Amino acid sequence: MATVSAPQREMRAAVSATKLLIDNQWVDSASGKTFPTIDPATGEAICQVAEADATDVDRAVRAARHAFEHGSWCKTSASERGRLLNRLADLIERHADELARLESLDNGKPYAVAGAADLPLTIACYRYYAGWADKVQGRTIPVNGDYFCYTRLEPVGVVGQIIPWNFPLLMQAWKLGPALATGNTVVMKPAEQTPLTALRVGELIVEAGFPPGVVNLLPGYGPTAGAAIARHMDVDKVAFTGSTEVGKLVMEASAKSNLKRVTLELGGKSPNIVFADADLDQAIEGAHFALFFNQGQCCCAGSRLFVEEKAYDEFVERSTTRAKRRKVGDPFDPATEQGPQVDRDQYDKVMGYIERGKKEGARLMCGGGRVGDRGYFIQPTVFADVTDDMAIAREEIFGPVMSVIKFRDMDEVVARANRTEYGLAAAVWTRDIGKAHAIANSVRAGTVWINCYDVFDAAAPFGGFKQSGMGRELGEYGLQQYTEVKTVTVKL
Ligand code: NAP
Ligand code: MG
Repeated sequence: MATVSAPQREMRAAVSATKLLIDNQWVDSASGKTFPTIDPATGEAICQVAEADATDVDRAVRAARHAFEHGSWCKTSASERGRLLNRLADLIERHADELARLESLDNGKPYAVAGAADLPLTIACYRYYAGWADKVQGRTIPVNGDYFCYTRLEPVGVVGQIIPWNFPLLMQAWKLGPALATGNTVVMKPAEQTPLTALRVGELIVEAGFPPGVVNLLPGYGPTAGAAIARHMDVDKVAFTGSTEVGKLVMEASAKSNLKRVTLELGGKSPNIVFADADLDQAIEGAHFALFFNQGQCCCAGSRLFVEEKAYDEFVERSTTRAKRRKVGDPFDPATEQGPQVDRDQYDKVMGYIERGKKEGARLMCGGGRVGDRGYFIQPTVFADVTDDMAIAREEIFGPVMSVIKFRDMDEVVARANRTEYGLAAAVWTRDIGKAHAIANSVRAGTVWINCYDVFDAAAPFGGFKQSGMGRELGEYGLQQYTEVKTVTVKL
C-alpha cells in the first residue's frame, strides 16, 4: 500500500464526468464551488467535483418538473421507457470493467468484488425494472350502481433520491430503476464520498437517449444539497438510504414542507443465529461473509452473531482463524478480500467502537488495529464474550468488527434478537427445518436468510421493520412506492 498502483493512476486520469447533470447538460454549480473526492486507499484526492447546493437543486427540480409535465417524457410510452432502461443496462454492461475500476477507486472496495457483485446486480436491476415498465396496471372495480370504476397507477412526479456511499452504483440502480419504469423524473444526490460512478452513469443515461430533465444528478453535501431536496416544495417524493438519524431529518423536512412521500432504507443491527446442529463449515464461512463483506459497510451486516452455547468455543476459534486469513490490501490486487473503509470519519468511528468493545470487557480474539500507514485500512476484528448491553452489540458499527454472542435456546435467542430498535435483516443456520422456519416467523425483520446470507435479487423486496426504514425497494413492492393510485368513476 506504499504507492499508488498503476491501475489507480490510470483510472484517475480517465475520470470524465465531474460536473452536475441538469437537463442533460453538464454544468458547474451556481456557486462555482467544488469539493475533492478521496481515494480511501491512499487518502489522496482523485479529482474535484462540482458541489451542488440549494440553488442548483432549484434549477434541477425545475428541469425535472418541466420534463414531467411538458417535455417529451410525459409522452414517452411505457414500452419506450422499458426500452430506454434496457439500453442503459446494455451500456453499463459494455462499460462494466471501467465502472468496476472507478467504483473501486472512489469507494475502496476490491475491484474484483465490484466486478463480481456490484456490476452484475446493477445491470440486473435496470433490466428487471425495464421489464416492468409496460406491465404496471390498474384494476376495474365492481362498484354499486350504474357506474364503471377503474384505477390508474400514475407516476408520483418529481422524485428526490438521496443515496449512500457503500454501494454507489447499486443504490443508484435500486432508486432509478423503479422511478423511471413508472414514468417519474428524478433529482438525485449521490454521496459526497463516492460521486464518480453515479456521474459516469449519467453520461450513459444521456447516451441511452433519456430526454432532458428526466435524470438530474447533483453531487454535493447532505446538509446543503440533500436537505434542499428533502424540504423542496416542488418535489413530490423523496427516497433516502443512509443512517436512521438522517432518515428522521428527511421525514421531518417532508412534514414541514409539502408532505412529500417518504421512503427510507436505514440502518440495522441484524441478528445472525447459528444453532449447534448447523453445518459449521458453511455457517462459519457464511457468518464471515455476512459481517466482513464490503469492509463491513452493509446496512444488513450480520453484526449480532448469536452462536448456541454447545458450539460457541469451536465457532469462535474457527471464525478467528478465518478472520486472520482475510486478505486486506490494495483494492486493485485481484487477491484482495478487503479494502479500506470509505473515509477518515468512518475509520475513526469504527476504531472508536473497537476501543469501546475492549473497555466494556469483550474478549479481543484478533485484529483491532490499523493496517499500513496510509489510507483507511482496518484489521478484520473478532470479539468474543460479547453481551447484549455492550455498545458493539447495540449500535451500528459499519466496519469489519465481528461480535460473537452466546445463547442457550430458541425462545431466549428470539427474544434477544428482537430486542433492538432495528429490523432490517436476520439469518439462521441449522439443519432443522422446523427451527429455521420458527426463527423466520418470529424475528421482526424485513428479510430473513436461512442457511445463507446477503442473497439479493432485483425481484425480491428489501427493506426494514421498525427504525430500519419505511417502504420496500426491489421487486414489485418497489414499484408501488413510485406510483399514486387514481380512481376513475364513469356514469353509465
Ligand atoms: P448519512 O449521513 O445518513 O448519509 C447518507 C446520504 O444522506 C448521503 O448522501 C448524505 O450526504 C445525505 N445526507 C446527510 N445529511 C443529510 C441531510 N440533513 N438531509 C438530507 N440528506 C443528508 O450516512 P453517513 O454519514 O455517510 O454514514 C453514517 C452512518 O450511517 C454509517 O456509519 C452507517 O451506520 C449508516 N449508513 C447506512 C447505510 C445504509 O445502507 N443503510 C449507508 C451508509 C451509511 P453526504 O454525502 O454529505 O454524507
Ligand atoms: Mg471517494
